[in-house]
Amino acid sequence: MRAQINRGDSWLTYDLANLLPGEKIDEDALEDFEDLLIQADLGIEAASEVCEKLRGGINSGRIKRPDQLRKALHASLVELLSPSSIPLEIPEFIRPFVIMAVGVNGVGKTTTMGKIGARLKQQGLSVMFAAGDTYRAGAVAQLETWAEKVDIPIVGQGQNADPASVIFDAYSAAKARNVDVLIADTAGRLHTQGGLMEELRKIKRVMQKHDQFAPHELMIVVDATAGHNALKQALEFHEAVGLTGITLTKLDGTAKGGAIFAIAKRLALPIRFVGVGEQAEDLGVFDANEFVSALLG
Ligand code: GDP
Repeated sequence: MRAQINRGDSWLTYDLANLLPGEKIDEDALEDFEDLLIQADLGIEAASEVCEKLRGGINSGRIKRPDQLRKALHASLVELLSPSSIPLEIPEFIRPFVIMAVGVNGVGKTTTMGKIGARLKQQGLSVMFAAGDTYRAGAVAQLETWAEKVDIPIVGQGQNADPASVIFDAYSAAKARNVDVLIADTAGRLHTQGGLMEELRKIKRVMQKHDQFAPHELMIVVDATAGHNALKQALEFHEAVGLTGITLTKLDGTAKGGAIFAIAKRLALPIRFVGVGEQAEDLGVFDANEFVSALLG
């Protein structure tokens, strides 16, 4: 058998390392392999681009053995992600620099904002949080806990407050106190998805009364275990509010984030950070080479 396609419950535990065609490297094997890449959430476009490159190598005789195939696979996956390996820079001439986080409930948005705050503070920047997720029960308290833990001031008006007003106030406070970075959390779900997008657009409009270029980073947080849904979410939010970056969470889990290739291919957005746990230090800057090495095992 050339390649194992795991259609069972354990699909999420796939490991691309085991998906390499084991025997003869020929057209059939490549086709099986392309299916596997698609099932690993790379999406059709990214999978066929990778396989086209491998096919070129096989036809020209550069790829004959599995180890050569593996190396070529590594290189083409890195090539796919490299244009998206753009770290978040906080330019000195924008104060406060505003990071607004968006994403559906449960992806790790609030946690990621806490971690990013901690990281920026460690770099010597002053940070403030805006508790803009006034919809999810417990979200404000959760950000307050982070604020306390990492010793960062927070502006909020409690649950059910108008998020645009919370973030407008927070911006004023950040400006008055000369804060370097304002990190605004937002809701992940309202009664309807359309309502959520309208609310996010309103937050943007209100913020732009202070600074027409704010938010300077509109970051979507997606969960690596969400597979194809991660791409769907990114497309939807991008269309509604215009994203400038992505953070991928829960890479410490079993899924390995194949969807990021599909996202990189379709949206060509910078991938900023990866979340690898629940603690402040469990945040890494996205690095295409490291990511692919971890993926291939
Ligand atoms: P939000 O609804 O998007 O704001 O999500 P939360 O920040 O509340 O996170 C949802 C759950 O995911 C919480 O239990 C977090 O501790 C957990 N979480 C967030 N990021 C990560 C991560 O990178 N790895 C793991 N294992 N868990 C995470």
